[in-house]
Order: sequence, then structure tokens, then C-alpha cells
Amino acid sequence: YSDPSQKIDYVFKVVLIGDSAVGKSQILARFARNEFSLDSKATIGVEFQTRTLVIQHKSVKAQIWDTAGQERVCGRCCDVRLIWRASEYRAVTSAYYRGAVGAMLVYDITKRQTFDHISRWLEELRNHADKNIVIILIGNKCDLEDQRAVPTEDAKEFAQKEGLFFLETSALESTNVEDAFLTVLTEIFRIVN
Ligand code: GDP
Ligand code: MG
Repeated sequence: YSDPSQKIDYVFKVVLIGDSAVGKSQILARFARNEFSLDSKATIGVEFQTRTLVIQHKSVKAQIWDTAGQERVCGRCCDVRLIWRASEYRAVTSAYYRGAVGAMLVYDITKRQTFDHISRWLEELRNHADKNIVIILIGNKCDLEDQRAVPTEDAKEFAQKEGLFFLETSALESTNVEDAFLTVLTEIFRIVN
């Protein structure tokens, strides 16, 4: 995907957020390495991967950060966060969002709860991220249409109301993953130019 000798015009940090098991790490694996794994290991801590692409004749290095989602954040519905001291929680959260110019807010179309939690993730973004951050709402696992629990229209309406981009993706089938990243990166590019 990338040519290491290439000069980089921009580095854009983008964070992946959303509940556990919605497919954040597989979306990233699909985008960064064109890989997918059905027995994906839970992400421990924070990691990032990069891919360099060309937007309007400039080379843009996308630095995509991935984390162990709700374990760290969703204090109202899971216990694991209780093992974090408040000071550690604040330090990790602020490091994760520091310098981020884009965010991909992911839910699983087959798990209603992961969509209901989106407003909490937005609240965390508003508390910790730059106010001009570009956000896309992503309904992942759209290959599982027969198990759908979140109607596309509900998510579309929510995204419109909150001023977010919106796409449904499948990391498994590779549907719209490229488009989702390009939507965010192109919008960031437009803003900085
Ligand atoms: P994360 O906790 O949000 O990082 O979720 P993972 O990327 O680890 O994925 C959790 C589980 O969902 C794994 O078993 C993945 O293989 C599966 N998964 C991820 N994306 C998709 C998808 O688009 N379709 C289907 N059917 N399964 C997916
Ligand atoms: Mg993960």
C-alpha cells in the first residue's frame, strides 16, 4: 500500500471508538493491511497503524488509533473501568484523543445496545477531543443483514441530527471500509486546505 521513500505532506491522526466487539480492530486491519480475522483477539491497551494515501496529489499518512473500547470508557454499564484509578483513566483518555483530527464512531448493526451507547461516546469526544474533529458514524457488520437490530434510517437520522457523516460497513466483506476512511480523510484535507 505505501512507498516508504514517498514524501509525506500530511499526517492525520484518527481515532476508532465504540463498544467492545463492534469490529473496530477488524475495520482497521481491513484498511491498513487488507486483512480480516474471525477470531480477533480483544485489543489490549492502545495501538495504531498507518497507511499512506494520495488525496488531490498530496500524500497523506493516516495514523489510525485503536483501543480496548468500553473497558476504558463506558463506566455506566460495565464494571471493568472500576479497576482504573480516575487519574489513570484521565491520562489515557486524554493521550488517546490528543491531536486527533478525525474520529470513527463504530456500532454493530446486530447489537442495539452498541448503537444506544453512541451518544455517550459523542459526549466523551466533546469532553476530550478538539471541537472541530471530523466524525463519522459507522454501522459495522452489515453482512449480517438477517440479524439486523438497528434500522439504517434510525442511524441516518441520528447522524443528521448530530452533524456526523454516516456509512454502514462490513470489515468481513470489505464493504464501504475504504469509503469510510476516505470520507473522513478527505473532509479533514478539505478543512486544512
Ligand atoms: P473490537 O473489540 O471493536 O476491536 O472488535 P473486533 O475487531 O475485535 O471484532 C469483534 C468480533 O466481530 C470478531 O470476532 C470479528 O471477527 C467480528 N467482526 C468484525 N467485523 C465484522 C464484520 O464486518 N462482519 C462480521 N460478520 N463480523 C465481524
Ligand atoms: Mg479491538
